Order: sequence, then structure tokens, then C-alpha cells
Amino acid sequence: MGLYPYFHPIEESEGPVVRIGGRKVIMAGSNNYLGLTADPRVQEAAIKATEKYGTGCSGSRYLTGTLDLHVQLEARLAKFLGKEDCLLYSTGYQTAQGIIPTLVQRGEYVVSDKDNHACIVAGNLMAAGAASYVGDGQQGVVRYKHNDMKHLEVVVSKLPVDAPKLIVSDGVFSTSGEIVDLPNMVRVARKYNARILVDDAHAVGVIGKGGRGTASHHGLEKETDLTMGTFSKTFASLGGFVVGDRAVINYLKHQAPALIFSASPTPASVAAALAALDILEKEPERIDRLMRNARKMREGFKKMGFRVNEHDSAVVPVIIGDTEKVLVMWRHLFDAGVFVNAFIRPGVPPGMEMLRTSYMATHEDEHLDKILSIFFDVGKKLQILD
Ligand code: PMP
Repeated sequence: MGLYPYFHPIEESEGPVVRIGGRKVIMAGSNNYLGLTADPRVQEAAIKATEKYGTGCSGSRYLTGTLDLHVQLEARLAKFLGKEDCLLYSTGYQTAQGIIPTLVQRGEYVVSDKDNHACIVAGNLMAAGAASYVGDGQQGVVRYKHNDMKHLEVVVSKLPVDAPKLIVSDGVFSTSGEIVDLPNMVRVARKYNARILVDDAHAVGVIGKGGRGTASHHGLEKETDLTMGTFSKTFASLGGFVVGDRAVINYLKHQAPALIFSASPTPASVAAALAALDILEKEPERIDRLMRNARKMREGFKKMGFRVNEHDSAVVPVIIGDTEKVLVMWRHLFDAGVFVNAFIRPGVPPGMEMLRTSYMATHEDEHLDKILSIFFDVGKKLQILD
């Protein structure tokens, strides 16, 4: 039926505009939040690093895969996010898998939001799997209702008092753009002596002071034990990281299989992320532009009568609530010149089927107005709007 919305190859990209199937379309589904994949300074850094170090590291960080660039980026990120130390992984997905099962051991618990990103779910399953693998079955993974800190307390209060507990949540939820209720999470964590890990993949460079993420947004940097993130969004590259206390980071460095048994991020990836961090620090006005763009779109969709979220992040989901309608609408939008993401079950809970839109600091009003007018026309045509 021509409705398949996935794996469409992009033939060329300027950031807000890409070429797909020989046609230029506006990109309204990328996580390239500050538009830095197309920044000449980031591109130049990647090229120079490739010339100096080659195209790959051909080894794990543990062995031959540590460059001075990796160490520099770790020091810069730890400082930027106000923590003692940082560890890079090769992807954000791997980062969660490198933290959760490594830290949560026998007789200990992960306490996870039901809507956490798939990489956290995978990390949780590995922690639970390790328990059955070693045969004692004592580690636990327990879940609480999405961003519901009252339910978190109910769940945590039932766990053994002395058992170490790690509460894990997306900072900005990847599909809904919702921001976690960190103040109430911290209250529960303090009461029950639990630690907190926040996945800031969609938060660094987007929310918080100068883009310093969820903990900074809530002024709870000290209370957030570990923050993980990715280079595949704001940082215009590929790779992941975690920041926290030196002892914990050192432990992960020497114990996390996802780090030890996998090759380190390429020179170009690390240099691009370093250049992106430079720009993020020097040009915080880009974040204002990003948030202004996202707000304009949220308001615009709302005025037309679409169902959107109320959270001040760069992800603006247009919730349709029906798989077939999402796919048909996706096709009409694409034909009219806008690329968005069709999110259907099981990627989202029933009733939350959506066209996930997300914005860049480099979208111009001309792009945004066109996206709005196309959504309006398609919404009317398909009778999604009254
Ligand atoms: N965490 C969240 C919340 C994400 O949305 C993503 C990517 N979609 C990741 C982690 C994984 O990051 P990466 O792309 O670097 O593997």
C-alpha cells in the first residue's frame, strides 16, 4: 500500500532539509537538536581527526583503543556536567547495557519507569538474566507507572530495606518529550536510600542551564548520582557516555563488559562530539532558538486541534492514537514534503500511536510554517482534524 515509513534512505542532508528518493523534504524527525551535523566546524574536526588517527581505533578502550581524544572528551564532559569523572561507550544503547547490569548485582534492585527507553529495558533484562544465569535469582527488576512518583514510592517501599536500589529513568522521554519528575524521585530516593541514574539522551543540549540536562533543569545535580547520554543527538556524532563519582566510573571502567569487549568510538566520532561540545558551551543561544522552534510548533499544532504534549522539550509528538491513521498520515505528509517519524505499537503504548516530530535550532520559520500548513491540510483531508 506504499505506507511503509521505515528505512527510507537519505541521499543528502543539510540538516533541516534532506533529499529522499530524489526529492527535497523538510526533516522534522531528526534528533540533530542543535543542527550541528551540518556545522563546518564539526565536520572539519571529524576530517582532521581521521587524517591524524585514521578511520577507526581497531580495539577496545581497555587495550589499543584509547586515544588522547577519548580522555579529553571524558574530562570535558565531566566538567560540563559538574561530576568527578566520565566514561565513553561506543553508543548510547551500549551505555545503558554497560551501566545497569554492571552495577546491579546479587540481592540488589533496578527500579525502572515503565516507559523507559529500550536500551534501559535491555540493561534491566541483562541484570535480571544475570541472576538466573548464576542461579541465585536474587537481583530484581521492578517497574513503576510512567513518571508516577507516588507509585515509585509504593514499589520501592516493598523492597528489602537493606538492599541497594538503583532508580532509572529517561530525563526527557524519547517518544513523548515529557520531562521526568526528578524532585519527587529524589525525595523517594532519599527516603529509601536509593541511587538515581538519568538517561539524558534527549536532554543534554536541550534543557537545563546552558543545556546541562535534566538534573540542572531541576537544580538537582548533586542528588542525581549518574547521568548517561549519547552523542547521536545534540552532539552530532555517535557514541555514549556516563558521568558520576570517580569511584563508580572507575568501577564501570574495569567491570562493564559493554565497554571492555567492544571497540572504542572512532576518532572522527569523538572529535565531532568535542567540537559540538565547544559550540554548545560558546553558543548557548542555539538552545534558545531550538526551544523557541519547538514551542512555536507545539502551539501551532495545538491551535489547529492536534493532540500534543505540554512539556518544554524539543520532541513534539502529534498523538493520533491509531496505527492505520498514523501510517496513512505519514505517507500524505511525506508526499507533501515533510519527513516525520511514525511511532506505532509496540514502540509506544496502545492509544499513543503518534507522528513524532522533533526540531533543530537550524530550522527557519519558513520550514516550520510549511510543516504546520502541510499538517493542517493533511489533517483536514484525512478528517483527523474537525
Ligand atoms: N537513550 C535514549 C532515551 C534514546 O532515545 C536513545 C536513542 N534513541 C538512546 C539512549 C540510544 O542512544 P544511541 O543512539 O547513541 O545508541
